[in-house]
Amino acid sequence: MRLSRAFQPMLKETPAEAQIVSHRLMLRAGLVRQTASGIYAWLPAGLRVLNNIARIVREEQDRIGAQEVLMPTLQSAELWKRSGRYDAYGPEMLRIRDRHERDLLYGPTNEEMITDLFGGAVKSYRELPQTLYHVQWKFRDEIRPRFGVMRGREFLMKDAYSFDSSYEGAVASYRRQMLAYLRSFQRMGVRAVPMVADTGPIGGDLSHEFLILAPTGESGVFYDASLEEQDWLAQSVDLDDEASLEAFFGRVTGSYAATDEMHDATKWETVPAERRREGRGIEVGHIFYFGTKYTESMGISVSGADGAPFFPQMGSYGVGISRLVGAIIEASHDDAGIIWPEQVAPWRAAILNLKPGDQATDAICETLYASAPDALVYDDRADRAGVKFNDADLMGHPLQLIVGPRGAAAGRVEVKRRATGERSEMSLDEALALIA
Ligand code: ATP
Ligand code: MG
Ligand code: MG
Ligand code: MG
Repeated sequence: MRLSRAFQPMLKETPAEAQIVSHRLMLRAGLVRQTASGIYAWLPAGLRVLNNIARIVREEQDRIGAQEVLMPTLQSAELWKRSGRYDAYGPEMLRIRDRHERDLLYGPTNEEMITDLFGGAVKSYRELPQTLYHVQWKFRDEIRPRFGVMRGREFLMKDAYSFDSSYEGAVASYRRQMLAYLRSFQRMGVRAVPMVADTGPIGGDLSHEFLILAPTGESGVFYDASLEEQDWLAQSVDLDDEASLEAFFGRVTGSYAATDEMHDATKWETVPAERRREGRGIEVGHIFYFGTKYTESMGISVSGADGAPFFPQMGSYGVGISRLVGAIIEASHDDAGIIWPEQVAPWRAAILNLKPGDQATDAICETLYASAPDALVYDDRADRAGVKFNDADLMGHPLQLIVGPRGAAAGRVEVKRRATGERSEMSLDEALALIA
């Protein structure tokens, strides 16, 4: 992308309405613009980050055998009347009436719709297990939308739903999701710690929230540091083997981690003092098992091995894709701006042309840019060097390739790593290899 032609509106002033750093930086760096309370338009740079996060989540869902579908945002009230949630859900649900006076709603979640879809297609235990997911916009009429995309009203979620014929099968599905989540967040370059969450009337211990540590988080968190140190990508877990899944799950749940809602001071005392971490966290994912709650209330059964019908066991698994954009910034920034982890960065590197019009400088910049124009930002604007340095820091590109007349004459490129501030000089070929 050539910055001189890009739709990349940056703000010099700090927007007054933004209370937390990620919201300020997202507005200043031109990632999003609010179009109505809690509703955002995604601009090119922001959309690239959103898509990168969604891509990682999709790859990890596919890896555990979940299948992608796409359900609509609008749902019929009839569906929700069948489960009994149409009245129970309350004012967070946006209710709509069409020209024929039929009641619709903008989906805040999809348990009813997926259960109905499943019931219309699956008739026998032989077709189980199934896990389906989609990445779709949700609407919740939050009483206090705030912190930009972190608590929006319209937001992008990945939600998956598993169907199994037994409790043991549902537990295995849940554990596979646990692994997919830990891998997804680690691949995004952040750590989200799984914490036991309330299971309400369902009971049991199969509900976990995933929290990214940040002082602006809405939940208090208590956890054993060992949970942050594990390399989930390096663990070999056999997805088809219940014993292997159980051993993996034991490694996760063997260490204490809870939000303030679920905190148990007595258990906390058993964590060695040097491993106790206390702070605040942002909920970026939530997985839970709820058994036959929807299949039973909606009357969706399949026939078992003995011919008798039974209600499949379900779980649901959400990731806040749009919230993650803000949460990652909360976890990764400094006074100068965003520090994107490489895996989610909108562009791999920025090329800073310090003297557009200088022949040698232009030539090196064009050569660098031509090597991967889709993955690079080329700051070819007629601005001063200082402006380019500030904007590149604000936008958080992992690498800055800085080219000025003096270096260009000698065929040299200066490289700055945004995360460490470390600078080095190299030849054009070395710089090309770095961004290849
Ligand atoms: P919260 O406690 O923050 O209100 P929730 O528990 O109501 O979230 P879930 O129903 O568990 O949310 O939805 C799954 C995920 O969707 C959450 O973990 C979160 O990352 C994301 N999410 C929920 N509400 C919002 C929102 N208003 N804006 C952005 N993301 C959201
Ligand atoms: Mg909520
Ligand atoms: Mg919550
Ligand atoms: Mg939740």
